[in-house]
Amino acid sequence: MGKIAVTGARVIDVTTGELQARSLYLADGQVVEALDGVADREVDASGCFIAPGFIDLHTHVFNHELFGKGRLPADRIGVGQGVAVVVDAGSSGAPTIDAFPETVLATQATRVFAFINIGSPGLPGLGGGHASRPELCDLEGVVEAFDRHGDWLVGVKVLASQSHTGSFGLEAVKLARKAAELVNKPLMLHVGNAPPLIDDVLDLLRQGDIVTHTYHGKVGGVLGYLDRIIPAFKEAVARGVIVDLGHGRSSFSFRVCEEALAQGMPLDCISSDLHQGNVDRYAVSLARTMTKLRAMGMPLVDVVRRVTCNPARAIDIDRHGFGSLTAGKSTTATIFREREGEIRLEDATGESRTIDRFIEPLGVVMGDDYYPLSEPV
Ligand SMILES: [Zn+2]
Repeated sequence: MGKIAVTGARVIDVTTGELQARSLYLADGQVVEALDGVADREVDASGCFIAPGFIDLHTHVFNHELFGKGRLPADRIGVGQGVAVVVDAGSSGAPTIDAFPETVLATQATRVFAFINIGSPGLPGLGGGHASRPELCDLEGVVEAFDRHGDWLVGVKVLASQSHTGSFGLEAVKLARKAAELVNKPLMLHVGNAPPLIDDVLDLLRQGDIVTHTYHGKVGGVLGYLDRIIPAFKEAVARGVIVDLGHGRSSFSFRVCEEALAQGMPLDCISSDLHQGNVDRYAVSLARTMTKLRAMGMPLVDVVRRVTCNPARAIDIDRHGFGSLTAGKSTTATIFREREGEIRLEDATGESRTIDRFIEPLGVVMGDDYYPLSEPV
């Protein structure tokens, strides 16, 4: 299939926020201004929107026998749910990362990038957390992995919570920050249950680093006891730290997110943190997570920016045309609509909201190929 025309839809320009009633054309796998001749395939997208291919900045897709049943095949939550790019957020550390190309990249149509974990998740017999002991945090191994896999490794991940870093806590975060500095990539910081304290770990973040699960509802998060944003979070945002949602099974609270936004805090990226434990309930899909922000009153274009240009910039894949529909550069597009229908949305704390429409992806263009959704998500 050489030439694709997607017709009848409104194209979302994520830079200007404009909606343009026009067709989108791709030739030889790239977006072009116009087709030379007729299309080999026409996709009728009447009544829909066309956006740059959606990017899910936080997922778990390292589906390998070492990792048991926790992760998902990238295509299930990628092209299977209208998402062009999924980023594996540290399912693997230095001991296992070399299996990633063969088990994930070579087998999936979805474009996959990854953060490498400073710890060693997936190793058999791990007790006390995958980054809970110095010998599990391989600074040298993580840095050297970028020499072999620099084309798809986009940063370093650390899970700063008691269940993952145990009593090694802050030291694991410092090692991860050091690794990120040495390879000149962002650090993605998971915030969860203390220790370590969120104030201490946020202080380590620099401009361009990413905090994920930012608006979880656990005690000791970005809202203090009196529901005021803690100084360490305000300072991190002022330094240029990127704020990611990372819904997950237990990491998104409508109330905390609303309160933080009302107090002037940003939300830069919307991600799902999808894995086996939340794909059937709670997170469900990136589209469902996006719909939650619509239910909170965020305009559609602003929601779309948070799954396109913003995550693309955060991991420096915008230079390859991801996150935009730039002629001669971009290769992916998501077709979706806002469908009328009452839907009840559940966060990770048991709170729910009801909205009368929801984001429904219909398909995704990946270069020369179009992947229509087989069932709604
Ligand atoms: Zn995660």
